Amino acid sequence: MFDFWQRALLFPLAMALVSLLLWGIFGAFPATLFFGVVILLRLLVHLRQLAALENWSMAPESRPVPDASGLWDDVFTRLNKMMRKQREDREKHTAALHQIEQATSALPEGVTILDEADHIEWCNPLAEMHFGLDGSRDVGQQITYLARQPEFVQYLAIANFSEPLILRGTRQDELVLSVKVVPYGINKKLLISRDITRFERIETMRRDFVANVSHELRTPLTVVNGFIETLQDMPKLDNDMARRALVLMGEQTTRMEGMVDDLLTLSRLENSLNTLVEEEVDVPVLLQSLYQDGQALSAGKHAFKLELECTAKLHGNSGELRSAFGNLLSNAVRYTPQGGEIVMRWHMREDGQATFGVRDSGIGIAPEHIPRLTERFYRVDRSRSRETGGTGLGLAIVKHIANRHQAHLEVVSAEGKGSTFSIVFPAKRILA
Ligand code: ADP
Repeated sequence: MFDFWQRALLFPLAMALVSLLLWGIFGAFPATLFFGVVILLRLLVHLRQLAALENWSMAPESRPVPDASGLWDDVFTRLNKMMRKQREDREKHTAALHQIEQATSALPEGVTILDEADHIEWCNPLAEMHFGLDGSRDVGQQITYLARQPEFVQYLAIANFSEPLILRGTRQDELVLSVKVVPYGINKKLLISRDITRFERIETMRRDFVANVSHELRTPLTVVNGFIETLQDMPKLDNDMARRALVLMGEQTTRMEGMVDDLLTLSRLENSLNTLVEEEVDVPVLLQSLYQDGQALSAGKHAFKLELECTAKLHGNSGELRSAFGNLLSNAVRYTPQGGEIVMRWHMREDGQATFGVRDSGIGIAPEHIPRLTERFYRVDRSRSRETGGTGLGLAIVKHIANRHQAHLEVVSAEGKGSTFSIVFPAKRILA
């Protein structure tokens, strides 16, 4: 500061001294005139620098700090330094903010920041998706104005955030969200949303599955129990009756055994740790053997044909393929009345996909049932399926095996005329 005053006063003091000298030589008037002119010029120089400063301060970001000399040079140099520091700080903050934004965008959960009146201050892309928000347009809007579900509005109003809220149909009907609010700072809230649609669907499937299995096993168990009670209540056991009862009980236990076998096969196929053991499968040889099995199953009730139109082998698991092909064949036998025709076909499509098909002239399937056939326990005609020893799991197993081979199941059917079930294998599964 002392240095500043020293430098600021040096010029006027020097001029005052010169003026005093002039006074002694030329008199008062020329000396005063000289002093006045010099000070005025000095003032003009300062005004020019001030104007440059004023001009620069109007747009400090886009204009360079003006050049100057003397004391002004010090001021401008300091200003320049301050500006540079400010710019560096801002760049650092922008980079940090960008990093935080990137991190919150990568979060597997939706994050929305709400102020004390539940206005949106910021949200990440997942929150935009969950609540149908637009991060740039909806900032400042009240969240309950955009997500209007009464239970959500109430959840925010009651402000008891100990438990998350399960919210259905925020944006689309099928979307299920788990929403949690975490208060922070001064009356601010973090609204965290998680898409639990898949989890809910799996939970529903699990519940349905347990209910279905229990239902399927209850009927045969009731039958077997009934017979056991009847036999126990009989004072004298009639041999013929006991034998008949045992035969019927045997049928029911075989049915339960079949169902448990199919359930175990399904769970094995679904187990992600059980990867496909691949080998070379000679499909024509496999089909010859299945052709014999089919004829034995039909016991001469149907006309059987095997059409081997190609010799292609597959890269896959022969046990699983035998089970899938066998299931389709056994369905054809079971759903085709006596005298009908069953054709097994192995051929190559024009697009290079290999296809195994079973065509029957059986009872056929109405179109509304076709999309649901591969669901577990789905049957068009329950009693017919049971009578013929069906478990309702056969096509679910076929679909799983097809998927494990990147193949798919195609069904073409007409009620009363017959059906064709085909498994279509991609070209990459075919061995030359
Ligand atoms: P199921 O053990 O009952 O046969 P699947 O999963 O093998 O169970 O088949 C599901 C349902 O699809 C069957 O109950 C039956 O209604 C129908 N279906 C399957 N194959 C045929 C077929 N070839 N002809 C007519 N209906 C069939």
